[in-house]
Amino acid sequence: METKILSGITVANSFYNDVLSRITHLQKHELNPGLAAILVGDDPASKIYVQNKVRKFQSLGMHSKVYQLESNISENELLDIIESINKDPKFHGILVQLPLPKHIDNQKVIYAIDPKKDVDGFHPENIGLLSVGNPRFIPCTPKGIMHLIDFYQIDLSGKHMVVVGRSNIVGRPMSMLASLKSFGNTTVTLCHSGTKDLSSFTKEADILVAATGMPEYFDESFVKAGSIVIDVGITRLDPPRNDIYLVGDVNQDTVMGKVSAITPVPGGVGPMTIAMLVENTVLSAEMVLNS
Ligand code: NDP
Repeated sequence: METKILSGITVANSFYNDVLSRITHLQKHELNPGLAAILVGDDPASKIYVQNKVRKFQSLGMHSKVYQLESNISENELLDIIESINKDPKFHGILVQLPLPKHIDNQKVIYAIDPKKDVDGFHPENIGLLSVGNPRFIPCTPKGIMHLIDFYQIDLSGKHMVVVGRSNIVGRPMSMLASLKSFGNTTVTLCHSGTKDLSSFTKEADILVAATGMPEYFDESFVKAGSIVIDVGITRLDPPRNDIYLVGDVNQDTVMGKVSAITPVPGGVGPMTIAMLVENTVLSAEMVLNS
C-alpha cells in the first residue's frame, strides 16, 4: 500500500492564504490582531518555539511582542505582567511558553490569563467550553490536527481514534474534540502510561494519534494496516543521526507501506500548531470587533 504523506506545511500555507483577508478586514477596523508571548528563562528550545511563532505573526503583518523575563522572576511579578497584558487592548492573545521554572505554579499562571485572550486554550473556562461541545479557543495542536484531517478530506465519523498521551496540551483535548458530534464524531480511546498492553489498543485504531514524547516508539507492530497515523511527538536527536535532527513518536520507516497516511516529523503537526495560534488570535480579535 502506498502511504500518503499528510503535509502540515501544505495545509498551514493554504490556511495562511485564507486568513489574510480576515486580518485585512480587522485592520480596516483598526484592530490588528496582537499576540503577547511570555518567555521565562533562556531554555534554547523554548526560545526557538517562541521566535518561530512571533516570526509568523510578523510575516502576516500582525502585532506581536515577546516578554523575555529572567528565570528568577517571582511568581507575583509574572502574575502582575499577565494582568497588565490582560488589560492592554493591543493584545488579543497571550501565550506563556511552558515549561515555567519550578518555583512558579503553572496552574496559577494559566488561571491568571483572561480566558478571552487565552489563545492556547489552556484556561479551565476554555477547556470547560470544549468539554460541553461549545468550544471558544481550542488548544492549537488538537485543533491543527483536526484542520489537517479536514483538509485531506478524511472522514472521521464513526471511526475509532486511539490517542496515546493525556496531557492537557495535546492528548486530553484531542480526545474531547474528536469525540464531539460536530467535529470528529469518532469513538475515542485515550491511552497513557497506565495503559496495560498498549499495542492491543493501538492495533485497533483507524486513526492513531501518538503524543507521548517517546522517540520512534510506535513501530509496525503497533498499527493496523490501512490506518491513519498522526505523529505528534517531537524529540531532538543529540547527536543527530545521518542528518536527522528531529524524530516523532512513530518509527516512520517501519510503518510506511502498512498505513494509508501519516504526518511526517518535522513538517506535520508542528506547522499546524503555529497556524492555529494565528487562527485563535484572529478569532479573538474578531470577537472584540463583533462584541
Ligand atoms: P507530556 O509529557 O505532557 O505527556 C506525555 C503523555 O504521554 C502523558 O500522558 C504520559 O502518560 C504518556 N506516556 C508516557 N509514556 C507512555 C507510555 N510508555 N505508554 C503510554 N503513554 C505514555 O507531553 P506533551 O503532551 O506535552 O507532548 C507530547 C509530545 O508531543 C512531545 O514529544 C512534545 O514535544 C510533542 N508536542 C508536539 C507539538 C507539535 O506541535 N507537534 C505540540 C506539543 C507537544 P501519563 O499521563 O501517565 O504520564
